[in-house]
Amino acid sequence: MNQTIMNSFTAGPDENGCFGKFGGRFVSETLMPLILELEAEYSRAKDDPGFWNQMDYLWKHYVGRPSPIYFAARLTERFGGAKIYLKRDELNHTGAHKINNVLGQILLAMRMGKTRIIAETGAGQHGVATATACAKFGLKCVVYMGEHDVERQAPNVFRMKLLGAEVVPVTSGRGTLKDAMNDALRDWVTNVRDTFYCIGTVAGPHPYPAMVRDFQSIIGKEAKAQLAEIEGRLPDIVIACIGGGSNAMGLFHPFLDDPEVRVIGVEAGGKGVDERVEHCASLTGGRPGVLHGNRTYLLQDDDGQILEGYSISAGLDYPGIGPEHSWLYEAGRAEYVSVTDDEALDAFQLCCELEGIIPALEPSHALAHVAKIAGDLPKDCIICMNMCGRGDKDIFTVAKLLDVEVGDSE
Ligand SMILES: *Cc1c(COP(=O)(O)O)cnc(C)c1O
Repeated sequence: MNQTIMNSFTAGPDENGCFGKFGGRFVSETLMPLILELEAEYSRAKDDPGFWNQMDYLWKHYVGRPSPIYFAARLTERFGGAKIYLKRDELNHTGAHKINNVLGQILLAMRMGKTRIIAETGAGQHGVATATACAKFGLKCVVYMGEHDVERQAPNVFRMKLLGAEVVPVTSGRGTLKDAMNDALRDWVTNVRDTFYCIGTVAGPHPYPAMVRDFQSIIGKEAKAQLAEIEGRLPDIVIACIGGGSNAMGLFHPFLDDPEVRVIGVEAGGKGVDERVEHCASLTGGRPGVLHGNRTYLLQDDDGQILEGYSISAGLDYPGIGPEHSWLYEAGRAEYVSVTDDEALDAFQLCCELEGIIPALEPSHALAHVAKIAGDLPKDCIICMNMCGRGDKDIFTVAKLLDVEVGDSE
C-alpha cells in the first residue's frame, strides 16, 4: 500500500492490485493482455453512471434487492445478550449472494463484446448463478467443474443444464476445484477473442478481487443504511462466513473505515483445525502462497502443494481466501475464527426452529459463532450477520447427518 491510502482500509488495492503483500497478478504472459483489457473496461464502467443504473435495475427487478434486514428476536432472546440482525441475502433470486456479482461481470462482458462466458465452480452455486445470468442475456455459458464435484453436486449440475449451460467435468490433476480453475484459465487463453472469465469470489488475479468486492458491497451499503434507519447508528459487530470471502467482503467493506465496528470472518473448521487438515480454514490453519493468480493464505502441505479442504458445507471448501482478507487479518482490522461442522449443524437447526428460516450451511457457520459470543455481550450491542444463502440445497446433507430418511434424495 502506498502512502496516500495507508490511512484507509477501503482505498485498496494499489495500482498493482496489491493489498499489502497480498493479491497482485501471478499469471502467464499470454493472460496478461486479457487481464489488462478487463481492468481498463472495469475502470471505465466504474465511472459510468449508465453502468450503475443498469446494475441498480437488475438488482432491484431481477434479484429482488434491497434484501431486508431482519431483527431475529427469538435468537436474540435465546442467546440472551446482543441484538441479532440478519441481512437477508438468502432471499435473492437463486438463493444466495453470488448473483449480485455475476450480473456485474456479465454486464462488463457485454460491454467488451464477449459472447461466451466461462466459469469454474466447486459446489455448483457460482455455476448456477452464472448460468442464470447467461440465460437471461442469451450468452453461451461453459462451466468447469471437478469430476468429483460433478458427482457430488448432481442437482446443481442439472440446474445448470436446464439453464442452458455446458458443464465440463475436469479430470486433470486430481479433478478438484483447483484443477477446474486451471482449466478455466487455460480456456480463457485459448479463446481470447470472444470469451469472458467470470470468477465467483474475491480471488483470482487483479482486478477480480476488488471488482467482485465492489459488486458485493451492495450488501454492506444496504445494511449500513437500513441499520441507520432502524437503530440510528452503526452495528457493533459485522460477521459473515468465509469460503473465498466474497459475501463477507461485501458486508465488511463499507464498515472498514468505521473503527468502532468489529469485523469477524468465520471460516469452516470442519472436524477441527489441526494438522490433519479436515477443514477449510485458510487463515487460521494455512500460510501464504500463490494460487489462482494471487498471493494469499492457502491450505498447503510442507512442499507447497495445495490441499483439498474439507467442510460439511461444500460452498466453503475453497482452498484459499481472497487476498484482501489476508491483508485485513495481518493488519489486525478483522478477526478470523473457525467453527466446526457440529457447531454449524446446531446453529442450522436453531435458526430453523426459532426463526422459521432454513439457512444454508455456509451462513450457519457465522450463526454458530454469533451463538458463542452474543450471550456475553450487552443487550444494547448490535450484531449484523450476513444470511448469505438459503438452505433448501442443504436439506439432504442435513438429513443424512441427522440420520433421517427423506425419500429418494440422490
Ligand atoms: C458460495 C457461497 C459461499 C462462499 O463464498 P464466499 O465467496 O466466501 O461468499 C458462502 N455462502 C453461500 C450461500 C454460497 O453460495
